[in-house]
Amino acid sequence: MTNFSELGLSAKLSDRIANEGYEKPTPIQEKAIPLVLEGRDLMGLAQTGTGKTAAFGLPLIDMLLRGGHKPAPTTVRALILAPTRELVNQIAENLKLFARKTPLKVTLVVGGASINRQSFQLQRGTDILVATPGRLLDLIDRRAVRLDTVEHLVLDEADQMLDLGFIHDLKKIASLVPDQRQTLLFSATMPKSISDLASRFLSSPARVEVTPPGKTADRVDQYVHFVAGKAEKTEVLKTALSEHPDGRAIVFLRTKHGAEKLMKFLDSRGFATASIHGNKSQGQRERALKAFREGDVNVLVATDVAARGIDVPGVTHVYNYDLPEVPDAYVHRIGRTARAGKAGIAVAFCAPDEARLLRDIQKLTGVEIAVASGEPHAGADRPVQQKRRGGGGNGRGPRKPSRFAGERNNGERSHSERSHGERNNGERGNGGEHHAAGRRNENRSERPRKPGQGQKRRFSGNGRQARHSA
Ligand code: AMP
Repeated sequence: MTNFSELGLSAKLSDRIANEGYEKPTPIQEKAIPLVLEGRDLMGLAQTGTGKTAAFGLPLIDMLLRGGHKPAPTTVRALILAPTRELVNQIAENLKLFARKTPLKVTLVVGGASINRQSFQLQRGTDILVATPGRLLDLIDRRAVRLDTVEHLVLDEADQMLDLGFIHDLKKIASLVPDQRQTLLFSATMPKSISDLASRFLSSPARVEVTPPGKTADRVDQYVHFVAGKAEKTEVLKTALSEHPDGRAIVFLRTKHGAEKLMKFLDSRGFATASIHGNKSQGQRERALKAFREGDVNVLVATDVAARGIDVPGVTHVYNYDLPEVPDAYVHRIGRTARAGKAGIAVAFCAPDEARLLRDIQKLTGVEIAVASGEPHAGADRPVQQKRRGGGGNGRGPRKPSRFAGERNNGERSHSERSHGERNNGERGNGGEHHAAGRRNENRSERPRKPGQGQKRRFSGNGRQARHSA
């Protein structure tokens, strides 16, 4: 079994992270760490949940420690850019953990927080700065920070940064960092826009890949309920949540309004539920995520942008209450479960007007999603020529056809629609902050149950039980 020191990390750092539960590298770490330590530029095709933060964070910390010198006032040695506040917070939490008991200073800057405080924190120089592009540029404008000594640049979730309209900010930032630098780019998908970005920013990059582009996260069992409309979605969801009182579920909706309404409904039915979406203040989102992470609520209702990058351990179920307009978003959504090698279940609801969306998802992932109930709507059931990777064979017969009429939500724009020229307190990402504490040393040994499996089981994640709420 490979360990971190065999990949070239110092014994001291390897020992320290082993104490935090990082004993065996994940595949992306195994591939990326030696290349990053060699000083190569790197293009990493990997989703959140694969361990990519440590794949770049650990070798960066190792190299910065070996480099020895301190940053001059207002300078930065390693710059990590990420699209949303959530992701920046999460990366910074991870890096602070890895850099604990070392002299390295990790700072984060995001929109929606006091810029004066951030200016102050940057005054004495920073070894590692994790930032959203918009806020970073605001701080550069104020001369609170300069980038002319950056030795390492990381672009994380590059595809989403482009989706959110950060391309001009990225170009500007790239023009401010020295040409002689190491650049690492991570992206969950690799459309042409990302290869263009890579050819502009990276020099002879090594390429590492842990899941083929557009493929669904490993170890997620996928199901779809064909329903007549929104009311039936809610009914089936309620039943499914009641069947898994010890589970931890994220329910995705397309619109802020729809998410809030569903949250209130589930709450009124006794489910411990919170919501995160663009209409919530940063403080509200932070509290919702904390409650979800700590098990005070076990159902989180979310929209895509607000949920992007969320890393909560032991999410057992992802419900696609609404199918996303963009099939890639489905892959990201279901990637919230089955993280770091754990198993997970993704349940989609497909109303007649979503048949095309389901077909696009199956086409992208090459997976024929197993039918949990209902009859496929016209347009959804074209055979997928590739492997079958749904949960399949769960022994549950089709549900009775529904009585409810279809409805559709409106109101929240997609990533690309919201992107250009929009600012949100110096940041275009529409996220909220949360903390990554307590998501290590997870100890879930059981696979979550599949829809319809009646018998109850308990999980032991983080020594806590999600509150019984149904
Ligand atoms: P990431 O893809 O970086 O967001 O990581 C997903 C989750 O896996 C985080 O909770 C990490 O703390 C955890 N993780 C990453 N690498 C390892 C590892 N080698 N051993 C144990 N946990 C890990």
